[in-house]
Amino acid sequence: MRVVIVGNGPGGIELAKNLSREFDVTIVERENLPHYSRPMLSHYIAGFLPEEKLFPYSLDWYEKNGINLLLGAEAKLIDRLRKVLVTDKGEVPYDALVIAAGARAREPSIPGREHILTLRTLEDAKLIKERLEDEGEVTILGGGFIALELAGNLAKAGYTVRVVHRGEALLGLDRELSERIREELEGAGVEFHLKSQAISADEDGLNTETGYIPGKLKVCAFGIVPNRELAVKSGIHAGRGILVDDHLRTSARDVYAIGDCAELGGIIGGTAKTAVEQAKVLARILAGEEASYVPFRSAFFKFADFSVAVIGQIRGRGEWLDEKARVFYDGERAIGAVVLGDLRKALRLEKIIREGLPLD
Ligand SMILES: Cc1cc2nc3c(=O)[nH]c(=O)nc-3n(C[C@H](O)[C@H](O)[C@H](O)COP(=O)(O)OP(=O)(O)OC[C@H]3O[C@@H](n4cnc5c(N)ncnc54)[C@H](O)[C@@H]3O)c2cc1C
Repeated sequence: MRVVIVGNGPGGIELAKNLSREFDVTIVERENLPHYSRPMLSHYIAGFLPEEKLFPYSLDWYEKNGINLLLGAEAKLIDRLRKVLVTDKGEVPYDALVIAAGARAREPSIPGREHILTLRTLEDAKLIKERLEDEGEVTILGGGFIALELAGNLAKAGYTVRVVHRGEALLGLDRELSERIREELEGAGVEFHLKSQAISADEDGLNTETGYIPGKLKVCAFGIVPNRELAVKSGIHAGRGILVDDHLRTSARDVYAIGDCAELGGIIGGTAKTAVEQAKVLARILAGEEASYVPFRSAFFKFADFSVAVIGQIRGRGEWLDEKARVFYDGERAIGAVVLGDLRKALRLEKIIREGLPLD
């Protein structure tokens, strides 16, 4: 069976690794680089990691593992009748096609947006790093995990870092949790401007509802836009992302989608962890096993030296288990947790919540 994968991110590469022994696997990737780690980009910008360490697999590794890698090739259309992927470098026939095309950074839509950078690719990271080394300071727009990871690492590296967020809650958490995270990051040197909507930008700074924030380097890190265009152009159903069922099937026969480009039950995964989990399930499905993907939110982050795990459903009644873990309940059953600064506890709670085990 010929499996063709669009995208060489964590979803695409995990799937290829799982299938390459049994199947003829091709990855089509528009960037001209082997797989690199997006979650480590802020560590690279901060100077904690040399560029080469972002690349866990060499080009030789692909070859040795029997993965055919077409770099610098953009997938343009899926010819579903002929079962061929049309790229700008030629046609690639498939028996199963997997769209693992990820997402791009959401762009700000305010006047002067040309003065604001975004962070998604290594190229973006290089530009930010270069500018940061000249300026020594940065203003980051957003209150999600990408913004906080970047802020934490850059503050830890000694740069002046301001975070501007239109809301009050960080990571979309409740007030108490959000304040704990803010305090930790303030301790690392991050300056917060919360409830502060950006109105416009110019070369020298950012205009917000609560005043002007000077600073030439501004990075927008608030949200993603799933890459659904290939599917839409090919007549495949899409909402915010490419619509899939719990077998990760799209509306077209033998075409699947995983990772940041896929939407299941109204939810876009948005993390490398989800992309990898979906890839593992899809590998089993394509190998003929009985498997399905059960959405379960679980994400582990590190902001400066402070780890935060967000597990399951984090709405409704939340109670502190101890000073590090807040657990959310549906009746007596634990359905979610946020764990601050304790990875081991986070892993234990993840297992309990995922498997519906009693919390003792
Ligand atoms: C700065 C940063 C920090 C992050 N930190 C974390 C973290 O700590 N933990 C975590 O779990 N997640 C983190 N994430 C999110 C994580 O990186 C993504 O969720 C993950 O990369 C999604 O994987 P994916 O395989 O779905 O897509 P992607 O990694 O986006 O890969 C998709 C690939 O498809 C290619 N592509 C797209 N369209 C086409 C086309 N038409 N033809 C050919 N190729 C195409 C793209 O070039 C890209 O290489 C972070 C992201 C960023 C940007």
